[in-house]
Amino acid sequence: MQCVFVIDQNKNQLDPCHPARARKLLASGHAAVFRCFPFTIILKDRVQEKSVIHAHRVKLDPRSKTTGVALVRVDDNKVLWAGEIEHRGQAIVDALTSRRALRHNRRARHTRYRPARFDNRRRRDGWLPPSLESRLSNTQTWVNRLARCVSVYYLSMELVKFDTQAMENPEISGVEYQQGTLYGYEVREYLLEKWGRKCAYCGATDKPLEIEHINPRSRFHDNRVSNLTLACRDCNQKKGNRTAAEFGHPEIQTKASLPLKDAAAVNTTRWELNERLSALGMPVECGSGGRTKFNRINQNLPKTHWLDAACVGESGSNIFVPAGLDALHIKATGHGSRQMCRMDKYGFPRTTAKTTNPVFGFRTGDMVKAIVPAGKYAGVYTGKVAVRASGSFNITTSSGTVQGISYKYCFTLSLRDGYSYQQKGAALPPHN
Ligand SMILES: [Zn+2]
Repeated sequence: MQCVFVIDQNKNQLDPCHPARARKLLASGHAAVFRCFPFTIILKDRVQEKSVIHAHRVKLDPRSKTTGVALVRVDDNKVLWAGEIEHRGQAIVDALTSRRALRHNRRARHTRYRPARFDNRRRRDGWLPPSLESRLSNTQTWVNRLARCVSVYYLSMELVKFDTQAMENPEISGVEYQQGTLYGYEVREYLLEKWGRKCAYCGATDKPLEIEHINPRSRFHDNRVSNLTLACRDCNQKKGNRTAAEFGHPEIQTKASLPLKDAAAVNTTRWELNERLSALGMPVECGSGGRTKFNRINQNLPKTHWLDAACVGESGSNIFVPAGLDALHIKATGHGSRQMCRMDKYGFPRTTAKTTNPVFGFRTGDMVKAIVPAGKYAGVYTGKVAVRASGSFNITTSSGTVQGISYKYCFTLSLRDGYSYQQKGAALPPHN
C-alpha cells in the first residue's frame, strides 16, 4: 500500500499516513481530498507547527525511457511511496519531425517567398534537445510535487554507471576474491560493458563468464582493471599461464589498454539533472549503477525501476520495503499539441483553429468520473475526457474509450496535468 500524503490547513507538509487512517479521516469529515495524484488529503483542523515531522528522502533512478522514484523515510529507511515515470522522448521526436516536414513542404512550395527561420535563432546556454529536456522536466516536476506534500530534506540519484574513480584506485587488489563486495561489483559490471557481455576469446555469450587476467597474475602481478577481461571457464583454463598474445589473441591486449572513456557512460542528461537537483538547495547523494545493483541483489529485491531507485547510493544499502507496496505508473502525455489546426497530407489546414475554451467546465485531458444512471451506456467510467462542443464527451478508461457520454454525468477528479496514471491493483485511490 502506498502511503497517503497529508497536508495541514495551511497546505504545509505533514507526515504521510496509512490509507486506512486516511479513510477514517475522510469519513469523519476531518479531512478532504486535496489531490488525486499523488493521493493527498488536507486536514481541516491541524497546523504543521503542532505536529511531529520526519525527514524524507526522494531517490531517483533516471533511465532513458523510465525514471524510478522512491520516497524513503530517513529514520528507518522505509519506502513510503514509489512511482515510475514513463517519458515521452520518442513522441516528441516524432512531433518535431512531422513539424519540420510540414514547414519544409510549405517553404518549398512556389507560393510566396518564405525565408527559412532556423538560422536566426540562438540557443541558450545549456540547451538540450527537447526529448532530453522533457525527461529532465518530468523528473523535476515530480521531485517538486513530492516536496510540496511531504517534508523532503534529502535527494539521491544514480549519476554514473560505474564508479571509475573507485576502479582506477590502485589499492584495489585481488578482484576475484572480492566477488560480492561493492568493488567486485563495479569491476564486474564495468568489464561486462567493456567486453560486450561475452567471452573475449571465443565470443560465447551463453556461458558463465569469469574475470580473467590478460597478462597472468602469476607472472606479471598486475591487478589493474586494464589487465582484466572476461572469459568462459574453458578459455580461461586453456589459456592457463600464457598472456593473451601467446594464447593467439594479441588484439585483446590492444583493446584492454584503451582508456575507460568508452564505458564511463558520462551521460549529459544525468549530469544536468544532478545540477538542477543541486540547485534546489537539498543535499544530493550520488551513487553508481554498480552500487545500485549491488544493494538490490544483496537485499534480494526484484529488478524494477522504483526498487532500483530505492537502492541508489549508500542510503540504499538497507531499505525496508513494506509488503504490498506497488508503484504508481505515471505516463507523460504532454499538454496536447501546439499545432493550431490539423494538416492534411499535403500540409493544408484540415480543421479550424482549435479552441482552448473549456466546454461546460471540462477540458480535454481532465481526469473525470462519469456515473451514467440509465440507458445504453449505464455504468461508472473513470478516465481522461475528450470534450466536444456539443457536450457529448468521450472518456478513455483503462479498458477502452466510451463515446457519447453527456457532460451532465461527469465530474472532475483532477485537472489535466500532462500525465496519465495507473495504479496496479486498485484502479484509483479512494475518492469521496
Ligand atoms: Zn571462451
